[in-house]
Amino acid sequence: MAETLKTTSVGSFPKPPSLVKARQRFRRQEISLQDLRVAEQEATKEVIRLQETLGIDVLVHGEMERGDMVAYFAENWQGFTESLPVRSYGNRYYHKPVVTDRVNYQGPTGLTVESWRAAQAQTKKPIKGMLTGPYTICDWSFNDFYPDRRSLIFDLAHLVHQEAMALAAAGAEYIQIDEPAISTRPQELDLAIEAMEIVTRNLPAHTISHICYGDFDAIYPALLDLPVKQLDLEAANGQFQLLEILRRVPWPKDKELAIGVVDVHSHRLESVDEVKAGILRALEIVPADHLYIDPDCGLKTRTWEEAVQKLTVIQHAVDQVRKEEGLK
Ligand SMILES: [Zn+2]
Repeated sequence: MAETLKTTSVGSFPKPPSLVKARQRFRRQEISLQDLRVAEQEATKEVIRLQETLGIDVLVHGEMERGDMVAYFAENWQGFTESLPVRSYGNRYYHKPVVTDRVNYQGPTGLTVESWRAAQAQTKKPIKGMLTGPYTICDWSFNDFYPDRRSLIFDLAHLVHQEAMALAAAGAEYIQIDEPAISTRPQELDLAIEAMEIVTRNLPAHTISHICYGDFDAIYPALLDLPVKQLDLEAANGQFQLLEILRRVPWPKDKELAIGVVDVHSHRLESVDEVKAGILRALEIVPADHLYIDPDCGLKTRTWEEAVQKLTVIQHAVDQVRKEEGLK
């Protein structure tokens, strides 16, 4: 049977209200860490049930155990402390990780293996192993220890590689290494590529990197040198202008594209027709057996209902395109 375009998700899901409450209670020391873990596992089951019900092909575990994609690793690896509150935008403050020593991980297996394994036990469909890339971890942290960014990024790359190998050994078929910071500093793209070479070296997995909200114009087609099988890029937020950038060079035969077709930063629900139009435009550039369809980015900023609605639109649009284009 010929392969056809597949549906997937970028990574995070909104935390269901039951888990939001459990996290608050844990912070107030009203419940134990074990109770919190149980609440996270229940929420993960819900996330997987939803994706199965919708008919999504390659699933994510939803990151119920993570608050922030960089802080999660900083909190669990050695070498990091937390900064005083830093302003992000508006009146939102957060604690930015600070590197104060050599970065390291001394746990028994990979940090992310248990949550991946628990999620994979819920379904026969593949669950992606989900990691944050070394370039982004460096970029979103303060460095008070290493002489320069390069040496910190390379040490982080070895740690992320170790984590990826542990996921592959546990059976993860797809491993995604998110690098959203890549597109914000085009002049450092080579450094990010070098670091990814360390991460994916001899890694027996279908590798993916998600990159979003930046200057693709400045990093394409150089971005194609990022040593991963699949690039996962956002398109809906920029009214699919990304596709015009991708047209500059023929799409490489050995790369896959995952393309975001709904805007995760908007409450507006896209119509099936507009999502279909985006998919058809992407099919002009990348063949169906190399194309994945997903939201622009993680869904954690949406409500649970909005996430369900947006994913439903994606799946309906893909089902219709498959039918109309005779794709399986
Ligand atoms: Zn993103």
